[in-house]
Amino acid sequence: MVKQIGQPHRQVDLRSAKPIAKKADAELLTPEHRAWRTAVLQRAGYRCQAIEDGKRCHVSAPARLFADHIVERKDGGAPLDPRNGQCLCGSHHTLKTHAERVKRMAIKY
Ligand SMILES: [Zn+2]
Repeated sequence: MVKQIGQPHRQVDLRSAKPIAKKADAELLTPEHRAWRTAVLQRAGYRCQAIEDGKRCHVSAPARLFADHIVERKDGGAPLDPRNGQCLCGSHHTLKTHAERVKRMAIKY
């Protein structure tokens, strides 16, 4: 009879698909990234920089703002160059992120 105390063999590794996402997130938590984010938002005056119909978006702090990589990191954009950053509101950030994903997924003939 084997007594199963603690059941060490039943530990399930839940990390199978997660390390990549965790690594990407960790990069966003570094002091360097925070400084970059602050620089990008400050330069924008804490206001969304998206332009629609020739008019700049009016959303500004205290609304939630995103320091967005103009060329996304996964596309080779410089992660900590303020010139590769822009301040976006939530909806413009979502639109941009979606548009980039569509571009990335586009089939090239
Ligand atoms: Zn906006």
